[in-house]
Amino acid sequence: GKPACQCNSCYSGDDCSVLLPNCAVDSGSGNPLFLEPYWMKNAASSAMVVSGWHRMGYSYEDGSYISKELEKVIRRLHEVVGNANTKGKYILFGAGSTQLLNAAIVGLSPTPPQNYTGNHSFSPANVVASVPFYQVYKQQTDIYNSLSFKWKGDASLWKNNSDSTENFIEFVTSPNNPDGRIMEPVLKGSSVKTIYDYAYYWPHFTGISSPVDTELMIFTISKLTGHAGSRFGWAFVKDRALYERMENYLDVNSIGSSHDTQLRALVLLKSVLKDKARGLFEFGHGAMRKRWVTLNKSVSKSRRFSLQKLRPRYCSFFKKVTHPSPAYGWLKCERKEDRDCPAVLRAAGVMGRNGSVFHASNKYVRLSLIRSQDDFDLLLRKIDALVSQE
Ligand code: PMP
Repeated sequence: GKPACQCNSCYSGDDCSVLLPNCAVDSGSGNPLFLEPYWMKNAASSAMVVSGWHRMGYSYEDGSYISKELEKVIRRLHEVVGNANTKGKYILFGAGSTQLLNAAIVGLSPTPPQNYTGNHSFSPANVVASVPFYQVYKQQTDIYNSLSFKWKGDASLWKNNSDSTENFIEFVTSPNNPDGRIMEPVLKGSSVKTIYDYAYYWPHFTGISSPVDTELMIFTISKLTGHAGSRFGWAFVKDRALYERMENYLDVNSIGSSHDTQLRALVLLKSVLKDKARGLFEFGHGAMRKRWVTLNKSVSKSRRFSLQKLRPRYCSFFKKVTHPSPAYGWLKCERKEDRDCPAVLRAAGVMGRNGSVFHASNKYVRLSLIRSQDDFDLLLRKIDALVSQE
């Protein structure tokens, strides 16, 4: 069995088989440990050893901060999966996609005139996203308190303004975090720029209907291989000028992306490509699908709770129609009196993420389905118990 120090926090004993009474299950964060068993099975091909003298300098041989070998493997992966057209696009690496999201905002925003003191001849870009959205977009926009960009909330509030001369930057997350929907921009027009966050556009979480081919596409290994702690993401950019602005931001912000992380990503993605990525996505989609079916079975017995409805989609990677397998359950409390859905779940020992975090109402709670199997099994136990009380 597992050593005691590795027990899920709700279990104890030498083999982690003793369930602690009244232990609340953590279904909050999107820690992607669902892929740990895959990597245990592929331990040898994904292992790496680095000598102390290796790769000490700031840049690669060509003076850049981007490993050409890794770039090749990433482009190959998109080709094999069929989820993005990378031809003719520049690539950038970041510390997770998080750093690239910010580089994108900075790159797309206007630069104020020198010595600008706040007159009206300059207006910052308005940054928006559709509710419910991933809260980091707002947090990042706010933390800089920048003259160049300002957070303006829900995209739909600005639907009739987008023909104006004001600049808009819209985040489009597809599939969406928290609810797994395939998303399209709400705002259109020449003054609107769109940042596409494709963190979940992989066969684990949705059918890959066609390769995306947008101006600015952001990806991450966090939800692809599950190596969230390595902090590695990439962006494809069509426009040369935007690419240069983002590159400049990344250089000034962190002098490029960690070479150790790039090496780790290279080893992991090469391992994934050994069987044309079939092993990873069959495991990942299988695990996510099973969890979604099991959770739905439990919630469908309830009149008090409901889950988001998602449609089957044709997946060109699996060459068949695949049924929903989202990363998160977006659970709704249906009863009028259950205004504080997170509290209802907390009382039943389920720690989800409040709807309000996504700027939606607390009639909703996000339940993470990408955590470890132990966390999922416990979540199901608690949901079963809660539903059986009705
Ligand atoms: N975008 C979305 C939609 C996410 O859900 C996450 C992680 N939860 C990220 C970006 C950031 O991921 P990372 O920085 O680990 O690549």
